[in-house]
Amino acid sequence: MATTDIRSLPPAVLTEQLAAWGYPAFRARQIRQWLDQGVTDFGQMSNLPLALRQQLSEQYMVPGVTIRRKLVSAIDGTVKYLFALDDGETVESVLMQYKHGWSQCLSTQVGCKMGCTFCATGIGGFIRNLSAAEMLAQIEAAQQDAGIRVSSIVLMGMGEPLDNYDQVITFLRMLGEEGGVHIGMRHISLSTCGVVPGIYRLMEENIPLTLSISLHAPNDQIRSRTMPVNRRWPVAELLEACRRYADVTGRRISFEYAMIHGVNDSDACANELADRLRGMLCHVNLIPVNAVEGKAHQRSSRQRIQAFMDILQKKGINVTVRRTLGADINASCGQLRRQQDRENTERRHSHESDRTDTHRSGAGE
Ligand code: SAH
Ligand code: SF4
Repeated sequence: MATTDIRSLPPAVLTEQLAAWGYPAFRARQIRQWLDQGVTDFGQMSNLPLALRQQLSEQYMVPGVTIRRKLVSAIDGTVKYLFALDDGETVESVLMQYKHGWSQCLSTQVGCKMGCTFCATGIGGFIRNLSAAEMLAQIEAAQQDAGIRVSSIVLMGMGEPLDNYDQVITFLRMLGEEGGVHIGMRHISLSTCGVVPGIYRLMEENIPLTLSISLHAPNDQIRSRTMPVNRRWPVAELLEACRRYADVTGRRISFEYAMIHGVNDSDACANELADRLRGMLCHVNLIPVNAVEGKAHQRSSRQRIQAFMDILQKKGINVTVRRTLGADINASCGQLRRQQDRENTERRHSHESDRTDTHRSGAGE
């Protein structure tokens, strides 16, 4: 069976292969146009010679995703997908509607190696990287299913984007191309738990995206407890990389800070955070932490979040509290996949687990 992913192939490599088969370069452009239109079957690429269609199917495949489950929030219309990949692995993705249009949260890996203690994705460990084409396919599948156009992307689904660096960059470059899914880099956010060498590499790429850092703690003592990655690249090193990134790119860094009751939400934490961020071109986004089954952490109270925010503001730090979308469908990533895994085990892989399930949940927060 053909296993080479044609979409993640650099254009020059495809042109070379076609030349070796005796075809001119414009055939590569025709193939790209079909792929951009979402055609995944080489047999349907009707302006290509039959022999070429045959050769392509023997050599290449077009990775796709299919909808395994879908949940729609009755509160705000947020849609959460569980996508199945060609090898049966699953990843989550969320579509959110804002005033300026639809934003999609994409996964970059099946699972994650980083093991953050508050995160559902971290629980099952790492399975594999997604290819650039599998990232793109999540957008195409959602657009087709929901009948909308996605206008902004956040790489905040399952996985650590900077731990799958090359495929993520290939994907971002694909988004920048005209035709197919086209989304400008200014409408893209990439979130990392703090893979410092990746931040320096990204800085050199000259891609005007928004860099989000999952900081979640002001010092090593707290951060190393909840985010093992901090033992490798501690807060000082991470913030130094962020300062450099902001200086070199002129782009504001967004710090994500999940408020966990009794862990990172004290006045002292707020003061320390403000002091360490002073003078940096940045913005802090406070997120009431989501409950994850099997994890003991609790969300900070509304008053605590407000008090924390007041301290940051008084010290001149730009701060907002993230609006919760899709609260009734548990829209933070990693949870639907875990639920599906459990159901699959319970059903002992009966055919029932392969259904596509559209479920409108009416439960509020
Ligand atoms: N691996 C990357 C991107 C995916 S995680 C990263 O860690 O940045 C996307 C965001 O969700 C991160 O900011 C992460 O810290 C946050 N997150 C994970 N579990 C969460 C939870 N239970 N509640 C709130 N935010 C959570
Ligand atoms: Fe991985 Fe991000 Fe979850 Fe940490 S928060 S385990 S880095 S997906």
